[in-house]
Amino acid sequence: MERIYVAVRPRPLSPEESETSPWRISGNTISLSNHSSKFEFDRVFGEDCKTVDIFGSRTKEIVASVVRGFNGTVFAYGQTSSGKTYTMRGSANEPGIIPLSVHELFCSIQEKMDREFLLRMSYMEIYNEEINDLLAPEHRKLQIHESLEIVESRDRSVGDNSFNCFDAVRVSALNLVDLAGSERAGKTGAEGMRLKEGSHINKSLMALGTVIKKLSDGAESLGGHVPYRDSKLTRILQPALGGNANTTMICNITLSQVFLFT
Ligand code: ADP
Ligand code: MG
Repeated sequence: MERIYVAVRPRPLSPEESETSPWRISGNTISLSNHSSKFEFDRVFGEDCKTVDIFGSRTKEIVASVVRGFNGTVFAYGQTSSGKTYTMRGSANEPGIIPLSVHELFCSIQEKMDREFLLRMSYMEIYNEEINDLLAPEHRKLQIHESLEIVESRDRSVGDNSFNCFDAVRVSALNLVDLAGSERAGKTGAEGMRLKEGSHINKSLMALGTVIKKLSDGAESLGGHVPYRDSKLTRILQPALGGNANTTMICNITLSQVFLFT
């Protein structure tokens, strides 16, 4: 399987947005109806797809590889209101990638009668480059301990869950990340405002983008520098991104015109 796999999930337009969309989806390509640019991805889903389809297209394999001892990471990336939390957390009607993955993880482990597993889980947020433990809210401003592969993030913007499966020899981590809105400034107070994007891109997203670009260019295997240390998010995810890890990025988008220039 590809080390880094990029899937796109458009969310259905809401009734207020039900103008005709300028975007066209054809196979795994998205284009603007009045423009020649085309954007191609590993997989482009339709608006009516279900989260379980997205789970089945790659995340399920990643969970299986985590049980076998490889690290895995699944991100949801996209601007505010594009469906990241819907995809990752889901609802009672439609469970998200996080509950589906946890369920799959426990099912796969149950089938492996020959091994004993220890699972550790953390749930935290990175907000303004501070790490807060969401399972123990009194633990704020945590430090990163490089020896531990734990450790992830969630805030209403940056979110994530991690699972470390230890067995006799194998240690692996699964990170499920609901990232900050891609347009949102890293500071509080930005919420709900359509800021002058670009100049305010969240530091951790910038750092994540750089790391993923370097990794996909093969920098690590070529012995080049991968700047994991540029943000808390990339430091925490380092074990899950580099080395023997598999990563899926789910790009949540909306096909509405309104979002064209944001
Ligand atoms: P984000 O986390 O990216 O800011 P949300 O996940 O909160 O966005 O989604 C914004 C709104 O759109 C929510 O009301 C959510 O229920 C709805 N929504 C998002 N994706 C879908 C989908 N695939 N199907 C139906 N409703 C969706
Ligand atoms: Mg959200």
